[in-house]
Amino acid sequence: MFKKILIANRGEIAVRIMRTCREMGIGTVAVYSEPDSSALHVLEADESVCLGSGEPASSYLSIDKIMSAAREKGAGAIHPGYGFLAENPEFVRRCESERIVFIGPPSGSMLKLGDKVRARETMKKEGIPVIPGFSRLNAGYGDMEKAAEEIGYPVLIKAAAGGGGRGMRIVLSREKLKDSAASASSEAMSAFGDGRIFIEKYIERPRHVEFQVLADSHGNAVHLMERECSIQRRFQKIIEESPSPALSPSLREEMGMAAVKAVVASGYVNAGTVEFILDREGRFYFLEVNTRLQVEHPVTEMVTGIDIVRKQLEIAAGGKLSLSQGDISARGHAMECRIYAEDPELNFAPSPGRISFLKEPHGPGVRVDSGVYGGFTVPFEYDPLLSKLITHGETREINIMRMLQALRNYIAMGIKTTIPFMIDIIGSVPYMKGEIHTGFIDEHFMNWRPDMKGAELAVMAYLADDIFPVKKPAPVSAGQSSPWNTLGGWRIY
Ligand code: ADP
Repeated sequence: MFKKILIANRGEIAVRIMRTCREMGIGTVAVYSEPDSSALHVLEADESVCLGSGEPASSYLSIDKIMSAAREKGAGAIHPGYGFLAENPEFVRRCESERIVFIGPPSGSMLKLGDKVRARETMKKEGIPVIPGFSRLNAGYGDMEKAAEEIGYPVLIKAAAGGGGRGMRIVLSREKLKDSAASASSEAMSAFGDGRIFIEKYIERPRHVEFQVLADSHGNAVHLMERECSIQRRFQKIIEESPSPALSPSLREEMGMAAVKAVVASGYVNAGTVEFILDREGRFYFLEVNTRLQVEHPVTEMVTGIDIVRKQLEIAAGGKLSLSQGDISARGHAMECRIYAEDPELNFAPSPGRISFLKEPHGPGVRVDSGVYGGFTVPFEYDPLLSKLITHGETREINIMRMLQALRNYIAMGIKTTIPFMIDIIGSVPYMKGEIHTGFIDEHFMNWRPDMKGAELAVMAYLADDIFPVKKPAPVSAGQSSPWNTLGGWRIY
C-alpha cells in the first residue's frame, strides 16, 4: 500500500479522501491555490503545497505543478477526486510515464470512454442498449437533418467531448436544428476545445439511474447497485438516492449485469459509474461511463457499507477485489442533498463569501461530507458546492423524514444556500411518492421562491456567532514526523 498520496483537488472531496487515508495510515499531501490557503482540505492534510493563484489553470489544472508537488513530497500516488484533472487522459499519461500511480483507470480506457460517441459504439457492439441516435461525426448538416427526421423530434444535441451538461440542446422541430447545432458546437468548442456533436432521441420524462462499479487489474468486476439521480437542475444532479424507487429486483439485476459488461468491454480498472436513462416503459439505455469517483458516491457507501475510496486505493495498489457480486447487498435507504452556496432568489447564481456561522446537523444515520467551516470565505473561483448531506434510514419513508430534519438543523449564515430549496423538494408530495423524473424541477418548482420564515432562524444563528466567535485557524506547516503532524493545520488553543 502507498505510504503517502497527493490529492489533486479541493473542497469536500479532498477532505473525504483524506478521511480514508487516515484510517489506512496513508500520509496525505494537499495542493491549493492562494484563495484556498486556509481551506479545510489544507488544514486537514498532513502536508500541503501552494500551487499558485486562484485561476484554475495556474493551480488545480496545472499538470506540471501537480506532478512536481508529488515528486517534491515523495507521494507514491495521486487521487484526482472529481472535476479538475480527474478525467483528463493527458494527466493520467503523465502519471503513467513518471511512475506515480494514478488512482483511477488507465489512460487508454479513459480515452475510450471519455468520448461519448466512441463509448456509444463500444456499448452497441456489446449488445448494451443505447439511445436511438446519429453519431457519424464527419457527416454533413444534410445527413444530420435527415437522421433527426428519422429519429423523430424532439432530439437532443450532445457534444462528443461533453460533460456537465455543456453543449447540450433540446431541439423540438426541424426549423431549430441548424441554429441549435451551431450554438451547441461552439459551446463545446470553447468548453472542451472539441466542437464535435451528435444527436440522440430526446427521451421525455425519463429517470437517470446509474450503477456504481468496481473493477480490479486482475479481471474482476462487480457492481454496487444503483443510484437514482433524477432530481436535476440544468442537467446537473442535486439529490440522489439508493435504491431507486423505480427498479424491480429483476430490472436491477439486468441493468447491473449490463453495467459490469460495459466496464469489462472497455478494459476499465478502479471505481467508475455506468449511467443509464430509464424511460417510462421501463426500458433502459446506456448514457455514459464516468471514469472517476462520483460526487454522489456516499449514497452507495451508506447502503452497502463499502468504503469506495478504500477500494480505489486497494485497486490502485494492485490489490484483488475482496468482494464478489454475491457479497454485496443493500440495507435500508440512503439519500444525498448537495448543499451549494447559491442564491435561490437570484436564479441560483453562485453566492460566495464569508460563512459567518455554521452548524452542521448530527445524529444517527446523518453524514456530512463538508469542505468548509464557520469563518471560512468561500472563494468565487470554484464550483460553489459546500458540502453534501447524506442520510440513511430503514426505509425511504423514514429516511425522507430524517433528511428533512437534518436539513432544518443545517444552519449556514453569511452566504445563501440551496437548503430551503432542498427542504421544499424533499417535503413535496410527488417526491415523497417517488414520482420523479429528470424534468421534475421544471414541472413542480419552476417558479419556486424561498419562504421568508427561515430568516428568523438566521437572525438567531447570527447572534450566536456574536457570542461564540469562530477562531481563525493557524496556517499549515509541514514539519518533522511527530504526533502534531497528524493534526494537519489545526492547533489546540
Ligand atoms: P453530461 O456528461 O454533460 O453530464 P449526460 O450524457 O450524462 O451529459 O447527460 C446529462 C443528463 O441529461 C442526464 O442525466 C439526463 O438527465 C439528460 N439526458 C441525457 N441524454 C438524454 C436523452 N437522450 N434524453 C433525455 N434526457 C437526456
